[in-house]
Amino acid sequence: LTFASLGLAEPLLRAVAETGYTVPTPIQAKAIPQVLQGGDLLAAAQTGTGKTAGFTLPMLHRLLSMGKPARPQHPRALVLTPTRELAAQVEESVRTYGKFVKLRSMTVFGGVGVNPQVKALRGSVDILVATPGRLLDLIGMQAVKLDEIDILVLDEADRMLDMGFIRDIRKILALLPVKRQNLLFSATFSDDIKALADSLLNNPVLVEV
Ligand code: AMP
Repeated sequence: LTFASLGLAEPLLRAVAETGYTVPTPIQAKAIPQVLQGGDLLAAAQTGTGKTAGFTLPMLHRLLSMGKPARPQHPRALVLTPTRELAAQVEESVRTYGKFVKLRSMTVFGGVGVNPQVKALRGSVDILVATPGRLLDLIGMQAVKLDEIDILVLDEADRMLDMGFIRDIRKILALLPVKRQNLLFSATFSDDIKALADSLLNNPVLVEV
């Protein structure tokens, strides 16, 4: 099995090759073709499985295939993460796999000054990586609008719930366009995660590794 056989665009394959990956991990082999088809995904995957590339690569592919955005300042993909560290890791993946494509990403998280983030959001951004609390702060300041989001990723959703982010997540979900693709990644499946998945996902494909 190769990355090319999963259907990814050539500039993404080139970036993958440069990182030195030759074989997709099991989660990548299962998730990437599903995400490319445009449907919702429920993925059970721990850290270390290659899950980040598993959603980053097909997310980049879909943004490329959608063509030029009507309003470039509004992000089209939103990745929510529980922590600043994970947000930074996702951002790094987006940069690595997106190095040969013209898509702009930005990362926002709490614990640092909000003003540089407000300023940076005035430019165009295709992919926004965020922790929930800071994202809501920025929305409240009208620094970002989520009305053009086509793809939503919840990364480590179980940790976000453990950290008490469910109300923030619900507030954010209410601001997204109804028609969008949802990807939910979680290491564990508590009743709370199942309830979130039930309310969020439409006919999701379940991927487990
Ligand atoms: P993650 O589970 O997303 O945190 O990724 C775990 C580690 O696996 C990261 O250091 C990635 O760089 C690495 N990785 C991801 N996909 C592959 C692959 N197909 N082949 C080899 N290493 C990979």
